[in-house]
Amino acid sequence: MDKTVVIQKMLTMLSETQEKELTCDEVFAALDQFAELAARGEDVSKLMPLIQHHLNMCGDCMEEYQTLHKIVMNPA
Ligand SMILES: [Zn+2]
Repeated sequence: MDKTVVIQKMLTMLSETQEKELTCDEVFAALDQFAELAARGEDVSKLMPLIQHHLNMCGDCMEEYQTLHKIVMNPA
């Protein structure tokens, strides 16, 4: 599937489930996109608030995010 479509679906899904807490699996699935947006200087806490929220609460996902963020910022 085209990546843009996947992202669009994900953003729609996230905005429709505003009340619901994400699981680590759901966060992991969106994390590379989240890291990419953050690296581009987008306001990820507004674009993907549930993921930002989960990262604030979950050390495992935060660690994974920081790893991804470094990769995005310094591609080999
Ligand atoms: Zn988590």
